[in-house]
Amino acid sequence: MVVDLYDAAVAQFDEAAERLGLAHSLRALLREPKRELIVHFPVRMDDGDVRIFTGYRVQHNIARGPAKGGIRFSPCVTLDEMRALAMWMTWKCAVVGIPFGGAKGGVICEPHTMSRAELERMTRRYAIEIAHLMGPDSDIPAPDMNTNPQIMGWMMDAYSMHLGYPVPATVTGKPLALGGSAGRLEATARGIQVVTREAMRCLGIEPQDCSVVVQGFGNVGSITARLLNRLGCTIVGISDIEGGVYNPHGIDVPMALHYVEEHGCLIGMPGTETVTNSELLELPCDVLVPAALENQITGRNAARIKARLLVEAANGPTTPEADAILNQRGVMVVPDILANAGGVTVSYFEWVQGLQRFFWSEQEVNNRLDSIMRSAYQAVYERSCTQQTNLRLGAYLLAVARVAEATELRGLYL
Ligand code: NAD
Repeated sequence: MVVDLYDAAVAQFDEAAERLGLAHSLRALLREPKRELIVHFPVRMDDGDVRIFTGYRVQHNIARGPAKGGIRFSPCVTLDEMRALAMWMTWKCAVVGIPFGGAKGGVICEPHTMSRAELERMTRRYAIEIAHLMGPDSDIPAPDMNTNPQIMGWMMDAYSMHLGYPVPATVTGKPLALGGSAGRLEATARGIQVVTREAMRCLGIEPQDCSVVVQGFGNVGSITARLLNRLGCTIVGISDIEGGVYNPHGIDVPMALHYVEEHGCLIGMPGTETVTNSELLELPCDVLVPAALENQITGRNAARIKARLLVEAANGPTTPEADAILNQRGVMVVPDILANAGGVTVSYFEWVQGLQRFFWSEQEVNNRLDSIMRSAYQAVYERSCTQQTNLRLGAYLLAVARVAEATELRGLYL
């Protein structure tokens, strides 16, 4: 059964809150987003028509610092999805120990059917609609599904024009020429590479004996496949929205990237067998990396997952029902709030560099990222061992305790 994302997020929080023995008032506070903004705004389309779009910005908790979270452009964006993703951002920032709260935003639209000029007008207008929440000290958007550095550049420009001076630190994931950080584009995948390497070590899997399947071949999936391949793993299956390709002897990842550039999708790549996205998830492999979207591993397919290790690159790819089945079957799951935190970690570096107007080399960014992801994995692993639980609950216990402590220390305003 596919579950509502917000229900799933609250259920995960409730389990941790119960274990931590949080006071009822604190639980009630942390279950709800702090702020929810809904905007309806007009955009002139290329044919002269004016269309009304709906957008959201949700801030879940800002006890540990300014709100931080991506902007999604998709026809599937809903307020509940934003609430779930904002809450996960709060825990994600806490689990890697960076000083941000959680937020998420999005616009209901079909970005692939819009021209570049329409996308730019919609992005600029949306940025101004949420501008009273935005700012380097208050709320810092970033890219997410179907948004990219160019869209962040337009958001930063709209916000800066509104104030009359440049404010680069108000968004992250910007192009390098606008104050973006070296290494930001690869950061989420690099973080996944680090936690996968650490988890493989715990399971005694050597990279050269390890087969990997990656669902999703966008920013996160394609770079993850490349980096895990570079680590020595054999990538046996990859997919995009059209379907997947499989070769038990290994797929040439640079060639796959090249093939997608030329053909727009993976299907038909020479030397591979075509599989559907649901078949892909059930392929024989050691490591499965869902890097596309939520609700992919459910009660329906969890029992047939062959991987020993599942690394959640996407947000919310595993439903709670599937999680229980995997747990019972002894499949190790590195949870999204830890696995894909590399992106927000380098967003934090970009924000720090922007505020200081002092930029780091790619090597410096990568070294700091490696160190934060390794320590976070270690802290989660130790927590899950001492509490005799899985990595997901270990990560939640760590993150929720940090946010609860900060919230309590700040106290009530009146
Ligand atoms: P993207 O848009 O670059 O890529 C998404 C990929 O998934 C594409 O290859 C697309 O074809 C594929 N896809 C879409 N629908 C699919 C479906 N129904 N079945 C199979 N494949 C499908 O997005 P991204 O930035 O790579 O993000 C992927 C996931 O990672 C999302 O859940 C996102 O929230 C999460 N994430 C991204 C970042 C980041 O820095 N980009 C950070 C943290 C988490």
